[in-house]
Amino acid sequence: MKDKVTAVILAAGQGKRMNMPVAKQFLMLEDKPVLFYSLKAFEDSHVDEVILVCGQGQIDYCAHNIIEPYGLKKVVRIIEGGKERYDSVIHALRAIDNTDYVLIHDGARPFASFALINEVIDVVKESKACIVAAPLKDTIKIVDEDGWIRETPDRALMWSAQTPQAFEYSSIRSAYELLYDQKESERKKVTDDAMVYELYIDLPVRIVKGNYYNIKLTTPEDLVFAQVIYDRISKQ
Ligand code: C5P
Repeated sequence: MKDKVTAVILAAGQGKRMNMPVAKQFLMLEDKPVLFYSLKAFEDSHVDEVILVCGQGQIDYCAHNIIEPYGLKKVVRIIEGGKERYDSVIHALRAIDNTDYVLIHDGARPFASFALINEVIDVVKESKACIVAAPLKDTIKIVDEDGWIRETPDRALMWSAQTPQAFEYSSIRSAYELLYDQKESERKKVTDDAMVYELYIDLPVRIVKGNYYNIKLTTPEDLVFAQVIYDRISKQ
């Protein structure tokens, strides 16, 4: 039987660093909300179904303003997320009835292409766990609390983690349940899904080389970059 692939699109953040009254995933890019572009790429990909995670009280808004008007057929459920990103992820993982692989994606990354998503699906089926990442352009400094450099890791080994991040469902679900047995101070250290898998599952995670267009809209200047990327991609 064909393996089932579920995508979780996270859109429950408040985007405080964006300093805007509207959450970043609902800001307009050209004539559509940012979240539309993220969902459309999954709609056009080989994933079987999508679970959209939105903020408290936003289920109807998403259904009536993003899913229905644009005819997105793969979104099978819209659920409310939690306080932190990892809370939103575990809500989604617990809401999935039955699947083989799960791709977790930031709704605030509108430029992941369907081709990249399909590559992630192929790689996760082969390797059990993989994430999209891009080679780092800057040199990274490990700095102490007083502002002194302690270490400069070899840049050739440094990659910047993006999403989607994909896993065998049973493993990432177990990893997140184990994370939830930990104190909040431990949970707060988590900055991506692969980190949870690395901590609790004794198996390697593969890199799928992404590109520099797959930005996460975080601060106001990212909106300027997003418009430039949109113009470039829409001409291709
Ligand atoms: O805040 P950050 O930029 O890391 O958010 C990454 C993604 O996770 C965004 O798409 C955001 O909407 C989502 N998120 C979420 N639930 C939270 C916090 C963030 O779904 N509590």
